[in-house]
Amino acid sequence: MYVRTLYASFLILSLIFLGGCKGKGVDPLDGMVITMDAPYLQSSDITSIPEGFSAVGNAPWGIIHNGIDFLPAKNLTTFRSVSAGVVSDISMWKNEISLKWQVNVRVRFNSTYTLEYIFETFSSNQADGQAQLSYLNISVGKTLAAGDPIGQLFTAGSGSHLHLML
Ligand SMILES: [Zn+2]
Repeated sequence: MYVRTLYASFLILSLIFLGGCKGKGVDPLDGMVITMDAPYLQSSDITSIPEGFSAVGNAPWGIIHNGIDFLPAKNLTTFRSVSAGVVSDISMWKNEISLKWQVNVRVRFNSTYTLEYIFETFSSNQADGQAQLSYLNISVGKTLAAGDPIGQLFTAGSGSHLHLML
């Protein structure tokens, strides 16, 4: 029930973003409307979506947090693309704040909007970052439809989650 309520509020938060007013005019998705679905397959796949979006303030963790976190119910939960797009970047790196390894996946919607999915292992072990990379089902340049799987989240440490931002 909690998850369902949060799911509804996520969809409301998502609203609809208008793209393509920048004038480059070569991207076929320019001018299209982004609609976003949930990044999980079913509500039982996640345990919670903490209220942690903060673009200008420092609440609730003392840092700016330009995204929404999804905590999985189990290891290797599949997360999917919330909209159409093309995979523009996949990078593994160590978060300077948490010192944990994570994999960032960027999916470009059009010349204005890119969605970023961060698979946060919450592990300080680089090998766990490599393992997370191996659980992704995508590669740079791949075209995704809304709902296509991106990969499974490797929950190597406590607090592991998917971070989604526009
Ligand atoms: Zn986050």
